[in-house]
Amino acid sequence: MSQVPPREDLLTHDVANQPPARGDVDLWADDPALRDHAGAAGADTDHLARYGAQIGTAQMQEAGRLANRHDPEAVLFDAGGRRLDEVHFHPAYHDLMRAGIGAGYAALPWEGASGGHASHAAMVYLTSQVEPGVCCPMTMTYAAVPALQAEPGLFEAWVPKLTSRAYDGAAKPLARKPGATMGMAMTEKQGGSDVRSNTTQASPDGEAWRLRGHKWFCSAPMSDGFLTLAQAPGGLTCFLVPRWLEGERNAVRIQRLKDKLGNRANASAEIEYADALAWRVGEEGAGVRTIIEMVHHTRLDTAMAPAGLMRAALSHAAHWARHRTAFQTQLIDQPLMQAVLADLALDWEGTLALGMHVGGYFDRKGEAERAYARLSVALAKFLGNKLCPALVCEAMECLGGMGYVEDTPLPLLYREAPLNAIWEGSGNVICLDILRTLRREPLAGEVLSRELGAVAGQYRRYDAALSAHMQRFPRLPDEAQARWYAESLASLLTASVLIRTAPLAVAEAYVATRLGGERGRVPGAVGAIDMGGILSRL
Ligand SMILES: Cc1cc2nc3c(=O)[nH]c(=O)nc-3n(C[C@H](O)[C@H](O)[C@H](O)COP(=O)(O)OP(=O)(O)OC[C@H]3O[C@@H](n4cnc5c(N)ncnc54)[C@H](O)[C@@H]3O)c2cc1C
Repeated sequence: MSQVPPREDLLTHDVANQPPARGDVDLWADDPALRDHAGAAGADTDHLARYGAQIGTAQMQEAGRLANRHDPEAVLFDAGGRRLDEVHFHPAYHDLMRAGIGAGYAALPWEGASGGHASHAAMVYLTSQVEPGVCCPMTMTYAAVPALQAEPGLFEAWVPKLTSRAYDGAAKPLARKPGATMGMAMTEKQGGSDVRSNTTQASPDGEAWRLRGHKWFCSAPMSDGFLTLAQAPGGLTCFLVPRWLEGERNAVRIQRLKDKLGNRANASAEIEYADALAWRVGEEGAGVRTIIEMVHHTRLDTAMAPAGLMRAALSHAAHWARHRTAFQTQLIDQPLMQAVLADLALDWEGTLALGMHVGGYFDRKGEAERAYARLSVALAKFLGNKLCPALVCEAMECLGGMGYVEDTPLPLLYREAPLNAIWEGSGNVICLDILRTLRREPLAGEVLSRELGAVAGQYRRYDAALSAHMQRFPRLPDEAQARWYAESLASLLTASVLIRTAPLAVAEAYVATRLGGERGRVPGAVGAIDMGGILSRL
C-alpha cells in the first residue's frame, strides 16, 4: 500500500488571522438598506425575507461557485451526427434556476399582488449577490410577458408557462413542460444598438412565418422560445421563435458559445435561423415598438444587478476587514479602511435606493408614472453600471492579495461588473435614450421635476447642485453632453431618494461627496463624513 506523504506544508504553522468562512448568510436580515428601500418601494417584504434567507445559504453560494466554475457546453450533434443544438449545464445551474423561478423571479409581477415589480427588482438584487449569470434567462422570461400582450393567442399559449413557477430545464416541446423560459435575439453582426440594420429575413408560410438569418448574440439559447426581430415585407417585425415544434426541433442552429470575460454560468450563443418557424408578435413593421416593451423590463434588472454585485463585493470586503488584523489593529478599525468602505457604501446604497425607487414606479399604472419609469430606469441603469466596476475593484483590494484569487468571490464579481452597462442599451445609447424620452414624453420630465423638487429646502448643497444643473442645462443638451447630463440628473435623483428613505448619515454624506465636492476622484478620498453611521449599513 502506498503511503500518503506527510503534509509538511501544514505542519509548519497554525493558520492565523484568516477570516472564517461566511457560512449561511441571510441576505434580507443582514441588509437594513434593502429592507428600507424595498419597503419604501412597496415590495412584498415577507416574500423577500423568505427568499433572502433561502438564496444566501452556504449551499446556494456553493451552487453559484460551481455553476461558474463549470462552463456550459454546447452539444450540437448526437453520436449519429443528427443536430441537437443543446446546451448542457452543471446541475448547480439548474438548482439556482429552480430556486429563482420557484420563488417567482419571473412570475411575481404578473400575479396581480401589489408591489410585484418592486419585489422582482429586489429579487434581482438578491440573486445577483449569489450567482449573477442565472439572472439573464430569468430576467428575459419576466420581461417577455408584456411584449406578448401584443398577440393575444401567443399570450394565452405561452404566458401561463412563463409564469408557472415550475422550472424544467429539459429540451422538449412546450406542451410537455410545466414551465418555460424565453430568450431574446436581436443583435446581429452588422449592428446591435442599431437593430434597424437587422438582415434576418421573414417570409410568410401560411399562418406562420419562416426566418432565415443569423443572430450574433443570443443568451440562454436553451430557452423554450425567443422573441426576435426580422425583416418582413412590411418592415422590421417582432417574432416568437419556439425552440421546439410538435415533436421535433425547430431550425434554430447553435453555431458556438461565446467565450466571455465573465457571466460564465450563463450561455451566450451565436445562432442561425435556417428557415425556422416563427409566429408574428404585434403588427408587421412594428418590431421595435413591440420588443421595446421587453427591453424596458430587462432594463429594470440591469439597473438592479449592479447594486447586488456591489453589495456582494462590499459585504465580503467588510467581513474580511472585521476578521483581519494588520499592524496590531483590526482592519475595520483603521480610519483609512473605514473611509474606503464608507465611501464605497454610498455608491452601493445609492444604486440600490434608486433601483428600488424605479421598481416602485414599474408597479404604477398612470400614464405619467409609466413615462417616468422609462426615463428613470435609464438614469438608474446608466449611473449604477458606471459605478459598479470601480467599486468592485476597490472592494477586491480591501481583501489584499486574496481578493485577486478565485477562492473568494471577488474575481467572479469583477468579471461580471461591466456587463450590465453593455447589454440592453450600452452607455451612450442609454444617454441618448434619456434625451429622446424627455423630448417625446413631457410627462416623464414633469414627474422627474416633482421627484427632484420633493426634497428641496432640506440641504443647502442639494439645492445648490439642483440649481447648478438647471443653469447648465436650461434645455436638453447636445448629444456630446448627454453623459454629463445623465450623470448629473441620476446623481441628483439618487440624492433625492436617499434623503427620503435612508438614514441621515447616508443622505448627508451622499449629498456632501457626490453633489457637494467633498470627494476626490478615487474611492476613499472623502472629506469628513459619518463613517460609523454609514458602515452600520454593511
Ligand atoms: C454577454 C452578452 C450577452 C448578450 N446577450 C444578448 C442576447 O441575448 N440577445 C441580444 O439580442 N443581444 C445580446 N447581447 C448583445 C448586446 O445587447 C449588444 O452587444 C449591445 O446592444 C451593443 O451592440 P453592439 O455589440 O452591436 O455594439 P454597437 O451597437 O456597435 O455599439 C458599440 C458602441 O457604440 C456606442 N454607440 C452606438 N450608437 C451610438 C451613437 N449614436 N452615439 C454614440 N455612441 C453610440 C454604443 O454605446 C457602444 O458603446 C449580449 C452581449 C453580451 C456582451
